[in-house]
Amino acid sequence: MNQSCATESGTLYVIATPIGNLKDITIRALEVLKQCDLVACEDTRHSQRLFQAHNIHTKTVALHQHNENHQSQKFIDQLLDGKNLALVSDAGTPLISDPGFPLLLLAHENHIKVVPIPGPSALIALLSVAAINTQPFVFHGFLPAKPKQRLAEYESWLDTNATHVFYESSHRIVGSIKQLVTVFGVDAEIAMGRELTKTYEQIFKGQAAELLQLIEDNNHHQKGEFVLAVHNKIKPSTNEIGKKPAELIQHLQPLLPPKTVAKIVADHYQLNKKLVYQFILNLE
Ligand code: SAM
Repeated sequence: MNQSCATESGTLYVIATPIGNLKDITIRALEVLKQCDLVACEDTRHSQRLFQAHNIHTKTVALHQHNENHQSQKFIDQLLDGKNLALVSDAGTPLISDPGFPLLLLAHENHIKVVPIPGPSALIALLSVAAINTQPFVFHGFLPAKPKQRLAEYESWLDTNATHVFYESSHRIVGSIKQLVTVFGVDAEIAMGRELTKTYEQIFKGQAAELLQLIEDNNHHQKGEFVLAVHNKIKPSTNEIGKKPAELIQHLQPLLPPKTVAKIVADHYQLNKKLVYQFILNLE
């Protein structure tokens, strides 16, 4: 990417900012914010709190979801003129459920150098403390607001062996967790981060039904900002390979490595070896 950059163009810095605690910002982020020519902010007034706390006096211009389609080209013109720009959102990492996509798309099209200044993001903050499987994890951002559509979204995750991470708002949190219990079961492994890095930070890790009780029992637990993670493990179904092969697997599994068991069972019952092997892995 660097090789094709027009040398006279400026650089676009994409800067992560705090998700609550104003001290959660890197030294490099502060340096760039102070030294660049202009900061594109999701909300200039919101960013002023951070700028005042850290003595940043750089000029700011708004770039939000309602103006980014036309405003982005103006920023590109300034970058092509040699100006260095920074992009920040209200909280966390830009473009993660936040504005900036059209600007970055145009920056790449115009061979402008883009530099990430990494830092906080609510989804990573939760995964870093939840002790929930993170390989693989799928990030969904905000789910549909309508219960029926959200239910369909949850159901679509049942086919994936993964941890599903998403953002939820305070007025939908109870309904959303109720649906999680319905779809994934009372004992589904779940993690929740509420108000991460802030005064009333709350971290939960346990079963879905316990989380529902925790949230329903106390109105205060329904306030603030939420990030959730649910681990879906596909339960192996004997229908996939049949009862007899499943029984033979049960006998052989403690004695032999999974690949050998898969070969014996697949040969014996003339089944697809990969399917049998996947079935065994899911059992483990
Ligand atoms: N760009 C941000 C990031 O990197 O996490 C996310 C921006 S998105 C518009 C805002 C949503 O992220 C909130 O509604 C909430 O679901 C989640 N979020 C942001 N800050 C949070 C925090 N401190 N604790 C829990 N969730 C948070």
